[in-house]
Amino acid sequence: MTVATVLDYDEVIERFDPVLGLEVHVELNTHTKMFCGCPTTFGAEPNTQVCPTCLGLPGSLPVVNRVAVESAMRIGLALNCEIAPWCRFARKNYFYPDMPKNFQTSQYDEPIAFNGSLSITLDDGTVVEVGIERAHMEEDTGKSLHVGGATGRIHGADHSLLDYNRAGVPLIEIVTKPIEGTGARAPEVARAYVTALRDLLRALDVSDVRMDQGSLRCDANVSLMPKGATEYGTRTETKNVNSLRSVERAVRYEMTRQAAILVEGGSILQETRHFQEDTGTTSGGRRKETSEDYRYFPEPDLVPIAPSAEWVEKLRATLPEMPWERRKRIQADWSLTDLELRDLVNAGAVDLVAATVDAGASPAEARAWWVSFLAQEANSRAIELAALPIAPAQVARVSALVAEGKLTNKLAREVILGVLAGEGEPDEVVEKRGLAVVSDDSALYAAIDEALAAQPDVADKIRGGKVAAAGAIVGAVMKATKGQADAKRVRELILERCK
Ligand SMILES: [Zn+2]
Repeated sequence: MTVATVLDYDEVIERFDPVLGLEVHVELNTHTKMFCGCPTTFGAEPNTQVCPTCLGLPGSLPVVNRVAVESAMRIGLALNCEIAPWCRFARKNYFYPDMPKNFQTSQYDEPIAFNGSLSITLDDGTVVEVGIERAHMEEDTGKSLHVGGATGRIHGADHSLLDYNRAGVPLIEIVTKPIEGTGARAPEVARAYVTALRDLLRALDVSDVRMDQGSLRCDANVSLMPKGATEYGTRTETKNVNSLRSVERAVRYEMTRQAAILVEGGSILQETRHFQEDTGTTSGGRRKETSEDYRYFPEPDLVPIAPSAEWVEKLRATLPEMPWERRKRIQADWSLTDLELRDLVNAGAVDLVAATVDAGASPAEARAWWVSFLAQEANSRAIELAALPIAPAQVARVSALVAEGKLTNKLAREVILGVLAGEGEPDEVVEKRGLAVVSDDSALYAAIDEALAAQPDVADKIRGGKVAAAGAIVGAVMKATKGQADAKRVRELILERCK
């Protein structure tokens, strides 16, 4: 296979207009599956959460999960969609080993929610309105595990294992209208859209929205139109991109790859593609089918869904404060500038900081931890901030220890690192690592006397009234106590000693 050549990004933008279409699959956090009573716990032993219905055994019949339908409608309402007064499920027919029924129960031309919009805010504050084509209900497939190959894909594997625990878990697929006119910012728009959608779904409490666990997955459709053209180009669909950053990278890469083919006079193959995290490139998957290929037909085993106006309004009343409203309120409550708020949002830290404040930290302290120190930690581990193994309450506890004078800022950072390393609660880390501030004055006097004796000329200066000279002794004492002294207190004691 030859390495695909790509066109320089600036040149792509000079010659083409990108068009995006984003399809997000969200696994609902219902306790049971879409059409049966099997539990949906993530990470359970393979094939322990299955029954005749989700295994597609003869004679089994599906029953729709009411909570899943309500979640679908709440998502639709939060996305400003119209809710269909009557809609049906449909069978999408195709063979795949992880789909035991040999068809997926989905919705086709009758989605439960359609024609909505979501306002998203880019890093610099620009607002983009993204049209929502539809949000429909369907069920997840099982999982194949390909063993023995280098890539985890079926190609080159010795054998494959199947786990049907996920088969039948409720999914909502949210599809945008074509997103045009974003130019060079298309990759950023894609990331901002998925971020905004994730925040919205989290606020609705309908899903765990964990991209790393697959409960939120994004397929990115990308096509290019030569400048001035009026018809869309052929699109590719990069499947299951599993982080926000990867969404941005995948779109950007596809733009440069397609442009390289188009400027050479080639044509784009309509296909699904896979994003490679390590190289930041995409590789060809299967030729993309059209909807006719799936022989959709209305599901005969399920009754249509006809939500009454009362039911819809009852659900509308359950919608929480929307993330964008909440951000405005937080900005006012915490007296943040636009820039400070944006930093908070861009770091994905709004919820974490709010929870840390709820646990007792001041907004300024909570922000400082999450937006700088912990954000750097998350960055260096290439994970999202929320995925760091530390809880807001633990950050609040460290913050309290600093406020009480039991930790210096430097020691506090060590405690945080200890918590991140799995050494336990902040107080345990302080204990185990011996990080408490030396608050015992007699221990400090001993270190001070030693430092004064070692630097008699400095000691004389201080005694002579040169208070600024105390800095050298403070430094020596801090070194001797391995940074575990409160520098301010040390300074006071030195001046007292040199009176
Ligand atoms: Zn089942």
